[in-house]
Amino acid sequence: MRYSQLFSKTQKNVSQDSESINAKLLIQGGFVDQEMAGVYTWLPLGLRTLRKVEQIVREEMDALGAQEIFMPSLQPKEYWLATKRWEGVDILFKLKSQTDKEYALGCTHEEVVTPLAQKFAHSYKDLPFATYQINTKFRDELRAKSGVLRGREFRMKDMYSFHTTQESLTEFYNRALEAYVKAYKRCGLAVKVVQASGGIFTENASHEFQALTDAGEDVLIACEKCEFGQNSEVATLKVGEACPKCGGTLAQMKGVEVGNIFDLGTKYTDAFGFDFMNDKGEKQRVLMGCYGIGTSRLVGAIVEAHHDDKGIVWPTSVAPFHVSLVTLRSRDEAVQAQIDSTAKDLYEGLAAAGIEVLWDDRPDTSPGEKFANSDLIGLPLRLVLSERMLKEQSVEWKQRSTSEAQSVALADVLSRVKEYLRP
Ligand code: ATP
Ligand code: MG
Repeated sequence: MRYSQLFSKTQKNVSQDSESINAKLLIQGGFVDQEMAGVYTWLPLGLRTLRKVEQIVREEMDALGAQEIFMPSLQPKEYWLATKRWEGVDILFKLKSQTDKEYALGCTHEEVVTPLAQKFAHSYKDLPFATYQINTKFRDELRAKSGVLRGREFRMKDMYSFHTTQESLTEFYNRALEAYVKAYKRCGLAVKVVQASGGIFTENASHEFQALTDAGEDVLIACEKCEFGQNSEVATLKVGEACPKCGGTLAQMKGVEVGNIFDLGTKYTDAFGFDFMNDKGEKQRVLMGCYGIGTSRLVGAIVEAHHDDKGIVWPTSVAPFHVSLVTLRSRDEAVQAQIDSTAKDLYEGLAAAGIEVLWDDRPDTSPGEKFANSDLIGLPLRLVLSERMLKEQSVEWKQRSTSEAQSVALADVLSRVKEYLRP
């Protein structure tokens, strides 16, 4: 992509929502635009990162054997009355039709997925199975001041599993927990796996996945060494005590919840009378689990974890592009033409190798501004082509995460970049 063609450029002055680092950097860098508090447009750069995050999550859910679907956000009131959540959930957005019929705008999808699964699963032979979607959620959040960490409209991957026995549910729950840790790791985030209460969902087993950041609203008692933790709201252990898992020391930490999994038992299958026929021909209630990852919040948590005073420092796996190619202007027109054609060859060669390049080809922008812009956007690798570099038949190579630059011969750049990006 040529930067000159990108309609959503870097913003110089960001006033709104700048109390949160993720909002400031994502708005400034041209990743998102704030429509109103808690509601964002994902601009071309931001959308590429969001999609990469969601693809990682999708791959990990597929690897569990879960099947992807896409459910409606517009949900009938009757389903929410059946689960007694029409009145019980304060963040639920409610809509009224011109015919006076009422609907919920999905803040979660148990009310849709449970009757859906019920239509297809009748016998023990139809179970277990898991299904998931990556969709937009709506929540009437009172405070929406943490950028994309807390949206009123946001993205979530939500998975639901259905089982005949507790062993089957527990086995899948534990595999989902491992898949979650793997997904966060692939996104460049270390998380604490925190024992939590069931909240509005259930009082059965539940784990939160907490990314450590001062921007988080949750207080944890967590191990300094391993991923063990407890939410301070339900903690049975204290700061200074030994971690029951590895013996490390427990400390107080702040985190943002980037995922939550629940053993729901029969809470929702009771509400809809969802039974299956067991192998003796008897009716039995289906057991259920639910598993959520806030994918747009995850993008915000990644920014909170990976930035410096110059801007974002994206992990390669979720960077909107891999390479920031910067060409500097020469006063000599012939040299300028050579810089442009060399850059074009490099850009096309990298693209042909599947390497995603954002080329700052703007003719009238100063080097200082281009470098500042490149740092703000935070792609893993910056390559600079200038008159001086061209004379040496090389490019300047600098990784976003380090301060030293080096020069690399033009002839070697492609293979060096490939090697650098190899996972
Ligand atoms: P919180 O306590 O932060 O309000 P929650 O416990 O209500 O979150 P869940 O119902 O467990 O959220 O939703 C699953 C996941 O969706 C959360 O772990 C989080 O990653 C994400 N999420 C929840 N609310 C929001 C929001 N308002 N904006 C962005 N992501 C959210
Ligand atoms: Mg939660």
